[in-house]
Amino acid sequence: MLISAKRCLIAYCLLHFSFIAAAQQRCSFDEILKADIEAEEALSHRLVTIEDQLSKWIVNHERIQERSAYTIPIVFHILWNTTAENISTEQIQTQLDILNKDYAAKNTEIEQVPGIFASLVAAVDIQFCLAQIAPDGSVTDGITRTRTFVDSLDIDNVYSSAADGQDAWDPALYLNIWVANLKNNQVGFGSYPGQNAQEADGVVIDYSVFGINDHPRLNLGRTLTHEVGHYLGLFHPWGDGLFNINCSGDDRVSDTPIQDNTYAGQCPDLAANLPESCGSTDMSMNFMNYTNDECLFMFTKGQKLRMLATLLEIRSSLLTSSGCQNIVQPQVDKGIVSIGPNPVNGTLYISTFLEQAATNIELTIYAMNGKNVYHFEATDLATYFSHLVAVDKWASGPYVLVLNIDQEQIVEKLLVY
Ligand SMILES: [Zn+2]
Repeated sequence: MLISAKRCLIAYCLLHFSFIAAAQQRCSFDEILKADIEAEEALSHRLVTIEDQLSKWIVNHERIQERSAYTIPIVFHILWNTTAENISTEQIQTQLDILNKDYAAKNTEIEQVPGIFASLVAAVDIQFCLAQIAPDGSVTDGITRTRTFVDSLDIDNVYSSAADGQDAWDPALYLNIWVANLKNNQVGFGSYPGQNAQEADGVVIDYSVFGINDHPRLNLGRTLTHEVGHYLGLFHPWGDGLFNINCSGDDRVSDTPIQDNTYAGQCPDLAANLPESCGSTDMSMNFMNYTNDECLFMFTKGQKLRMLATLLEIRSSLLTSSGCQNIVQPQVDKGIVSIGPNPVNGTLYISTFLEQAATNIELTIYAMNGKNVYHFEATDLATYFSHLVAVDKWASGPYVLVLNIDQEQIVEKLLVY
């Protein structure tokens, strides 16, 4: 187990100190990595080995080919004490869609990237799905819910059922994301490859900044976008995790400018003079900054390469997972549609995340004899749409699902069992 009591003490001291200066900072990654390196000598050697693997892969893949996205199965572990902490399934689906849209560069703010950085914008070719198959082979909705009976949790406690948390699903096959009321004003942490013991490998996020929420600055679900970036091998733009915010750090990505500002609590006016530091214009809108959610827009091509290198070199076992084999994601011009699981025997989840709000969505499901067994229609929708269909009392067998989104039509064969 790499998480030591020593680390907890060091991390707490660092966090305690930092919170005097700034309450509820964006991310605990730098503090925890620094404390881990001080607590475990072997970690530095592992990080050097991993860096060597990543840099070799990146050198050989700089002219990356366009391809369809790799998909990583996610399990969300909801650790709750109060009702507000027991986040709804709809909220989870909303957060997942935000994550997918940000990684696909399909977020609406992408148009606001300043001209100086426009050519660097990347769709990362990594998408995420709610696990449909659990480690034991059973059908799941990709969500575990655990009542904690404590007011709040240290990050180190979320990983274990014995410590008021929830044991991970096999981290080789699933991205584990723990959602909890975190102690010490922490809002998020993503474990860097090789950093945590396998049973604690994944992402931790405070319930208050999850999905679309009421937080004054972190209200659009981008804390998860940021923390998954760490999980996929990214550092903050100002450094390599050792908290050198003085132009001496480097995130090991060639196309992100070095900066000495975290942009915590800020939202620079991009119509005015762009912020500068360390002799160049800062990319304050990069997802790996601490900038407010509404002002985070993009990953770069260099970050994309580093994340793909991490997935294919260090975390490649995720691509052998059958956790999401039942999700269907038909292409539509307007954005992303997700239908699943299919086959289904409990609840069918349908969600869209569109470029432009749809004026009409119509869902009809037909039995094979042509009989209409389910119909739903809604008008004047937002870009995000989520709908659940309970099929648990339906007769087993094939059905045909027809989904109309304005002028576009999706037809999928559905199997209820
Ligand atoms: Zn971070």
